[in-house]
Amino acid sequence: MVKTANSWNKVFPKTLSKKIEKTAEARSGKGIYKRRNNRNYRVIMHLSTYRYIDSKNSEFLSNFENGFAIRISPEEFFTSDVPLPDSVVLGKNAFVYYKTISSFKKFPPNADWNEITELYTSNKPKPENEPEWIGEYALFINNAKPSKISRICGKAGSLTSVEKQILKDNYSLENVPSQAGLGNFDYDYATKDETTAIKYQLSYFMLKVNGMKEYLNDLCQSDLVNKTFGFSPNAYKSCTQPNGFSTLYDTILEDITKYCENHDLLDFEKLIKIRAWGEAENQPVCPLCLQTLNAQDFLEVAEQVNGREEEDNTRSKIALMHIHALRPGELNHRVYNLGWGHRHCNTIQEDYDIEEILNVLRLIVDHNSNELLSDETLPVDDLTVTK
Ligand SMILES: [Zn+2]
Repeated sequence: MVKTANSWNKVFPKTLSKKIEKTAEARSGKGIYKRRNNRNYRVIMHLSTYRYIDSKNSEFLSNFENGFAIRISPEEFFTSDVPLPDSVVLGKNAFVYYKTISSFKKFPPNADWNEITELYTSNKPKPENEPEWIGEYALFINNAKPSKISRICGKAGSLTSVEKQILKDNYSLENVPSQAGLGNFDYDYATKDETTAIKYQLSYFMLKVNGMKEYLNDLCQSDLVNKTFGFSPNAYKSCTQPNGFSTLYDTILEDITKYCENHDLLDFEKLIKIRAWGEAENQPVCPLCLQTLNAQDFLEVAEQVNGREEEDNTRSKIALMHIHALRPGELNHRVYNLGWGHRHCNTIQEDYDIEEILNVLRLIVDHNSNELLSDETLPVDDLTVTK
């Protein structure tokens, strides 16, 4: 049976293990948003999202197990005709977020307001009845000279040891949070259990891609001396025995399958319906184009246009795709809403649901049905270097 939550580490090279682990991380943000973090952290939502949720079903808020904070713009706070709901309290579950110097000058913070300080991280135990954070506002104004940036919006690691000590003494803290953001984007949220289930479901998909076993076996064999791909010691050792890697692969796949079955993660009817699994192909397919995936594409870095390459771009040809897109007021980072797909299909999808983007694409093709038959080239002036 699976002993740890990351048994895929035993058979995947480092890049693929990381690809799986990363699905549990929220995107990193600037300013008040946390720099790379687990998805189950406290979330930050816009006032409009809070109003929407509050009016539809306030119970939904309890999904955010580690709490939430509402960001309010100075305009919303000082000039809106619609009063704030009684449940919104500055310094308790809401703050005013300044992003431009013009708003700051027009609507300066009230004299009795304080800038936000995070006292306790949201995913570790803390003393009962203690607030996790305090303060009524935060500044992240880059268009001022000099810029006005609150400490909570600073870079990770920018807190000096003197500042740390002051916070420690003032609030009797054992550990001082890094003050690098207060929370994650609300639409990235997923509970810890959900992120674990997702990791298993996505590992299963990966292991079931046709040719993956053979591909990883060859890769591991060829890497026995240099060990540049970072397979586990177990995997390298298995390569020295006849059929060793294949046996290891099958064992891990069996363990992951068992875990998935026990947690209802392999309802193939459902997986086919959401387009993450091909019925005839009996393996994962790209949710947009419905084509099967190549094992080596999971590791191969996507090609970049000549002359436009960025050296730090190491994105592979396969991307994580959401069937229903991530959006405020919905929890769409969940099992049965995710699949592996082509990087370029993911780029086409943008922030649309798969269904929505298919309608957009249909419309584009319909509008071009005549043009598609023609073999004329477009009469655009050509300024290529060879002319
Ligand atoms: Zn595709």
